[in-house]
Amino acid sequence: MKFVDAHIHLSDKEYNGKVETIIEDTRKSDVIALVSNSMNYESSILSLQLAQQNPGLVYAALGIHPWNIQFLSSNELEQTLDLISKHGRCREKVIAIGEIGLDFSYGKKQITELQVKVFKEMLQAAEKQCLPVIVHCRRTVSKIMSILPSFNVEKVLFHWFSGPAELLPKIVENGYYVSEGPPSVYSSETREIIKLVPLGSLLTETDGPVRFGGPFYGKMTTPSFIPQVVKAIAETKRMKETDVAAQILRNFTDFFALNLF
Ligand SMILES: [Zn+2]
Repeated sequence: MKFVDAHIHLSDKEYNGKVETIIEDTRKSDVIALVSNSMNYESSILSLQLAQQNPGLVYAALGIHPWNIQFLSSNELEQTLDLISKHGRCREKVIAIGEIGLDFSYGKKQITELQVKVFKEMLQAAEKQCLPVIVHCRRTVSKIMSILPSFNVEKVLFHWFSGPAELLPKIVENGYYVSEGPPSVYSSETREIIKLVPLGSLLTETDGPVRFGGPFYGKMTTPSFIPQVVKAIAETKRMKETDVAAQILRNFTDFFALNLF
């Protein structure tokens, strides 16, 4: 079986000095592709470098995370947009815009407005570069769904989707995707979501370096967790693990327009 990690932050400081070991580990676990998501300009550059250093395994997603909106330096948005337009069409390395999105648990109205502004800029960049987007959607799925139709962006991944479940039919109908990670193994809430998402709309992720509970407690998160995520999805959907792994790999290559076969 071959596996994929559609969402990890390999450029995160927590992985400093450990990337080589993680890469080795990733290959040994039969994870054949991972998408290094970015948080800001600096990590976008790092994601690009990691993709350049590990061709055929690491792919970059560039963008500004909603959590970083209040820390942006004066021209950071422009710099990141420039980087995207410079590398955006270079399919072998930059394959998406991410991690972008909205998170209103940050409260203050000003920040909320700024998040929406930056999110729209990123969607526009995705439209221009014909790139998929990887979206952070904590408690903001309906707001995001209301913004998306104004942009010509077909490929949208709702990463770590945790509800509301009522919006799933619309997400699927629009051809968007949902990704789930290590909580699939131990969280009944996540399994409920997995039951509702057709396998053809599902991707796997780790969101490392975020740490997890259950059998992952106390462990550094790496793409080597993915085979256990696939096993959990197969159990939840009462399907064969090999069929689940194969379909998720197909979803990944379709979504990111990659040829991994
Ligand atoms: Zn993330």
